[in-house]
Amino acid sequence: MHCMKQILSFSLVIGLLLAATSGRAVDIALPEMGDSAGELISPRDEHQIGQAFFWRLQQSTPLVEDPEVTSYIQSLGYRIAANSSEPGLDYTFFMVPDPSVNAFAAPGGFIGVNSGLLLTADTEDELASVMAHEIAHITQRHILRSFERHKRMTIPRTAAMIAAALLGAADPKAGSAALLAVQAGDIQSMLDYSRAHEAEADNLGMQTLVASGFDPEAMPSFFEKLQLASRYYGGDTVPEFLRTHPVTTSRIADAKGRAVQYQVRPQLGDHKQFYLIREKLRVMMADKTSDLLDHYKSAMSRKDGKNNDAVRYGYALALLKNGQHTLAREALQPLLEKERDRLAYQLALADIELAVGRVESALEIYDDNQRLYPDDQALTMEQVQALLRVGRPQQADKLLQTQLELGENSAQVYKLLAQTKEQMGQKSQSHRYLAEFYFQSGLLKAAADQLQLAANAAGYDEYQRASIASRLREVESALAQMEQ
Ligand SMILES: [Zn+2]
Repeated sequence: MHCMKQILSFSLVIGLLLAATSGRAVDIALPEMGDSAGELISPRDEHQIGQAFFWRLQQSTPLVEDPEVTSYIQSLGYRIAANSSEPGLDYTFFMVPDPSVNAFAAPGGFIGVNSGLLLTADTEDELASVMAHEIAHITQRHILRSFERHKRMTIPRTAAMIAAALLGAADPKAGSAALLAVQAGDIQSMLDYSRAHEAEADNLGMQTLVASGFDPEAMPSFFEKLQLASRYYGGDTVPEFLRTHPVTTSRIADAKGRAVQYQVRPQLGDHKQFYLIREKLRVMMADKTSDLLDHYKSAMSRKDGKNNDAVRYGYALALLKNGQHTLAREALQPLLEKERDRLAYQLALADIELAVGRVESALEIYDDNQRLYPDDQALTMEQVQALLRVGRPQQADKLLQTQLELGENSAQVYKLLAQTKEQMGQKSQSHRYLAEFYFQSGLLKAAADQLQLAANAAGYDEYQRASIASRLREVESALAQMEQ
């Protein structure tokens, strides 16, 4: 779903570095496990199970759409996945706007992270450790193995049950309805990873974490932190993550013991982006802007030197959210003076310009930054939205087509393409892209309707009509499978 070329070449370099330094460091014995799940269900079925879950999830809960946040979680995910035992899987990383501390994985490479988990993590390494752990659950096919004893079930029924159970873990309200629908009884318990699966995910996850340039200690320390928090608060506030991934003291001790076997390496990557994204998310998720401003005022007065820039950035965004544009600009100014070329600051500045109606100024900022960060996903998405605001669809179209060529085919790209084609007066194309938007979002019936409209608007273009008809058959077949 995303161009991995850059990430792969990057990880290759890191991989070689690691091979040179860590050859003698670790010799890890994996728990003995058969790979019978692989025989039971093909990779294609596996992806369909994950896809069914991802569709159902989107029907019941919105995902975070902010281009900077989604692009951050995707590139972090791809960087880690590229170092996993299955770098070639078609991974999909997404964020759910939910304060509960949770992350979850579905077969076929679908990984969701709740905003609450990112806000709870103190470092990027901690966030990465959970993602590496989830990726290991996927590459080891743990969910499918848990369902293995129900071999008599057909694949569609297994798929429906797994999707429903996963939904229960990701979104309790939607999940319980879906569970009733398949009359699955206690299948939720099957989803709780077993001790052996947890040990394996910790073990492989840590290897992947280290290979991706993160601190292995982050895994036990983050799990320990979650466990302590749940002990302290007790009962109902146990982080969701711990319900499906039970953490025991011995498991943490095992992970600590393993972590010390790795040599500590210098920190790689741009950790600052983690702190900036965390503040952006904090501002986005806050219900009351007044509380938010109080939070930042007190955080700025502490001046303990820790993440001062990120705190100031969050303060600027909070002021913007509160409609205090001049103050927001003033808060952002010192950051721009310090790091003129940081994209997050540039995009925040453009957001302020847009908020005061100076769209042309915002467009200039986007244009300038395209030279420094050509075809950056977040930059492009925000630029396209501004271009459509002033009715310049041609330039928007060019930028979006490049995103498609780069493999960025998220629902949001299709939605913007539909709007772009509509502004260009290309009715049939607009309906086609809207169909893809609905398809990605799990609204398969609406996707089929849009394809019908696209066919009606295609006129006498035989090639177009044939291509639309063929896509309609695919969508209808997926729809029939979902309804099964
Ligand atoms: Zn787990």
